[in-house]
Amino acid sequence: MTRPLVVGNWKMHGLSAQLADIEALGVSMTDRPAKADVLICPPFTLIERAARIAGSFVAIGAQNCHHETSGTWTGEISARMLKDSGASAVIVGHSERRQHQGESSERVAAKANAAVAAGLLAIICIGETQAERAGGGALDACAAQLSLSVPKGIAASAFAIGYEPLWAIGSGQVPTAAQITEMHGHIRQCLVARLGASGNAVRIVYGGSVKPANARSILALSDVGGVLVGGASLKPDEFEAIVRAAAP
Ligand code: PEP
Repeated sequence: MTRPLVVGNWKMHGLSAQLADIEALGVSMTDRPAKADVLICPPFTLIERAARIAGSFVAIGAQNCHHETSGTWTGEISARMLKDSGASAVIVGHSERRQHQGESSERVAAKANAAVAAGLLAIICIGETQAERAGGGALDACAAQLSLSVPKGIAASAFAIGYEPLWAIGSGQVPTAAQITEMHGHIRQCLVARLGASGNAVRIVYGGSVKPANARSILALSDVGGVLVGGASLKPDEFEAIVRAAAP
């Protein structure tokens, strides 16, 4: 079994003072290095410094990248730049970017391609809206997003899927165990249909109101290969408790 992946998405939070939290987590992880892959995605401004102090057991990633390698794209940051700054992964297609920056699934696939070409793990996010869930269309909505957001020809080892129902992000509402199991199983089927048996090796991480109190039970569900954590990743004690739930 692959190690669970625990991702902290800091969003637009974090100044120099919070680097100490990353350093402390790195130190506390030394007692269980092989049990989970821990990744913190701070804002761009902290990546290089975070990567220097995180230690060997905490990796640093980014929350977005541009789809081109370089060029006349004022204000943008390429995957190669992230790699050069010390990042080892990047989240692409987070629902906040799909919603507020109008990122299409095709654009997300281009970003994932750029990430992989730069040597970064691409964490490709998908998830249904509340209306899609209520209307019985959650599985189809996620399958459609998956099909367009995962680049053609990508290797199973080069990416992970973040399943994040939009209605669960930051809301305190978490899908039932049955809903998570059903969706992760469906995503797995789509991955295997797409990639063959190697689709079984892709980690599917759940995101949406993960807290210390629910992390262990979510991580125990079938086809849950980790968790993607927003709000609780900003609270060092809570994030460490979630990491420990993944690496007991
Ligand atoms: C997220 O935004 O990716 C997320 C999962 O947030 P939260 O944990 O706060 O729901």
